Amino acid sequence: MLDCIIIGKGPAGLSAGIYTSMANVKTLIIGKDSLLQKSEKIQNYFGFEEIIDGQQLLQRGIKQAIATGCEILNDMVIAIDILDNGFNIVTAENGSFNTKSILLATGNNRNTVHITNLEKFEGKGISYCTTCDGFFFKNKKVGVIGSTDYTIHEANELLSFTENITILTNGNELKSSGESNNTIKSNKIVSFEGENKLEHIVYDNGEKEQFDGIFIAQDYPTASDFIKKLGLNSKNRLLTINDQFMTNIRGIFAAGDIVNDFKQISTAVGSGANSAKNIIKYCKE
Ligand SMILES: Cc1cc2nc3c(=O)[nH]c(=O)nc-3n(C[C@H](O)[C@H](O)[C@H](O)COP(=O)(O)OP(=O)(O)OC[C@H]3O[C@@H](n4cnc5c(N)ncnc54)[C@H](O)[C@@H]3O)c2cc1C
Repeated sequence: MLDCIIIGKGPAGLSAGIYTSMANVKTLIIGKDSLLQKSEKIQNYFGFEEIIDGQQLLQRGIKQAIATGCEILNDMVIAIDILDNGFNIVTAENGSFNTKSILLATGNNRNTVHITNLEKFEGKGISYCTTCDGFFFKNKKVGVIGSTDYTIHEANELLSFTENITILTNGNELKSSGESNNTIKSNKIVSFEGENKLEHIVYDNGEKEQFDGIFIAQDYPTASDFIKKLGLNSKNRLLTINDQFMTNIRGIFAAGDIVNDFKQISTAVGSGANSAKNIIKYCKE
């Protein structure tokens, strides 16, 4: 049993991990690449008078977190299950872990697809949340767009509502080790079509296929997916936390771009530290 799982290895997650590990809170950080890796020139972060690039800064943070005792996994989290007894299960591509507390430090990125008419049908047949919207497609024909373990996980979740499920890899190779008995279609999708709601999708070979619903489960779940699935309170795409950096679910904390209006390395690091202070207290209670 872990004390804390931090989802995200950007500045917020790493900063929090340094504090929790130094306080002997058994911590595992699970994350993929941070947005910061794209930054070639950082000139406004305290303590670096020379220009440093995002990749270097993150590597230093990762080494520092490991030196303080953090374990770090380069993996994607595909599901979080909140158990009644106050413990939680975090499922990543390469394993599941039990933990007392979770820090969401996932940044504020959203994994979506760039397909004509996406926005037009969001909420009108196109959904990002199987847990919230699966019910509306009982015994209907649905497609799940994506090509990863997360896609298969979401398709399997939909099985309790319908068996008529097609995995739409949208021109990508299916990179999942998960099992699925669903139809798999690999054609590239060019547009969503319909009158007042989604009715069919059009592939790049001109073929049209009827669907009642489409779920986007691209790459891995991001902040907005976790917000919807777990029923976390949010406003204007920012997670709502209390003064202890805890969300409306006990034991689930958040830090970084997912809570900060001013999205910077310094504010992410600061909120990571603040959340860690409260996680330490929570785990030792
Ligand atoms: C091009 C660019 C340049 C920038 N330049 C500057 C600058 O010069 N100065 C500055 O102060 N700020 C800059 N920023 C902003 C800064 O990068 C962000 O504010 C900061 O990285 C936020 O940190 P974070 O830890 O909250 O999130 P992020 O750095 O976005 O990290 C989020 C982490 O969560 C992980 N994650 C998300 N979902 C999952 C999941 N399901 N499973 C596993 N892991 C997951 C991601 O892989 C990543 O590791 C820049 C941003 C960009 C894009």
